[in-house]
Amino acid sequence: MSAKLLDGKLMSNELRAEIAERVAALKERTGVTPGLAVILVGEDPASQIYVHNKELGCEQTGMHSETIRMSADTTQEQLENEIRRLNADDAIHGILVQLPLPKGLDEAHALAVIAPEKDVDGFHVVNAGLLFTGQEGVTACTPKGAMEMIRRTGVDLNGKEAVVIGRSNIVGKPMAMLLLAQNCTVTLCHSRTKDLAEHTRRADILVAAVGRPRMITADMVKPGAIVIDVGINRVDGKVVGDVDFAGVSEVAGWITPVPGGVGRMTITMLLSNTLEAAERAAAK
Ligand code: NAD
Repeated sequence: MSAKLLDGKLMSNELRAEIAERVAALKERTGVTPGLAVILVGEDPASQIYVHNKELGCEQTGMHSETIRMSADTTQEQLENEIRRLNADDAIHGILVQLPLPKGLDEAHALAVIAPEKDVDGFHVVNAGLLFTGQEGVTACTPKGAMEMIRRTGVDLNGKEAVVIGRSNIVGKPMAMLLLAQNCTVTLCHSRTKDLAEHTRRADILVAAVGRPRMITADMVKPGAIVIDVGINRVDGKVVGDVDFAGVSEVAGWITPVPGGVGRMTITMLLSNTLEAAERAAAK
């Protein structure tokens, strides 16, 4: 392997130590403990694991966390009333509705009820709009974490070719906006893109956020590129990314592993967003 490894576990540990210090300082200075509320509707097993990891992250950094468990037959009105209650709760600075919601509940409608300043997932249209217009808001955790990994390569991003594959509202689109804000020339590829490899081979920074195991192969990557693998796919009981790690790590300059890459950074960025929301609330 010639590429340098962008180790999400290592970076997360460093960042969580810094977050814990800032949490302690905020408490000392203002008496405010950052608080995160997670609403979990139904029994989805993967969601249970994600929520548990979020609780652990809060514990590790000295934050307050609350998990509100609601049954799978919760109505839209009950869910939104719970969000409104948390909007008004001064001990809570971040509210997260664990997705996916059970069938019959309207995700977009529920997310729109979260107060934008407490929307630590960064999915609210107000935060998406702030990012789009280059203003300060809450940035979605996965692209924020991926961007932090790119920043840590130390590469000057001005004028670089960045190619993002995937155009979801939670990863691909905000990722493209963050790279644009760093003066990259950004290409956003998707399922209808013609000749994907023609685009990816030009990329100094390549971000794959598709959900197709090992679709990015060595021949699609520019030598020396920064390759960020957001994909999480289960193949024969193993978790793999969208990038063929073994092959691409012989060509790329930097690469993120899966697991232990971007996924690790996502919850760390959630903690960072919650801390920042608490710091802003305390400053008011
Ligand atoms: P999504 O299904 O909403 O979007 C997938 C995107 O891939 C779409 O925009 C689609 O146009 C594009 N696409 C599909 N087939 C393609 C093809 N053949 N060529 C080019 N583009 C194609 O998914 P998402 O929510 O953005 O997630 C993407 C991946 O990232 C998934 O594997 C998901 O599990 C993972 N993910 C990881 C984290 C993390 O913390 N690491 C967070 C969110 C999502």
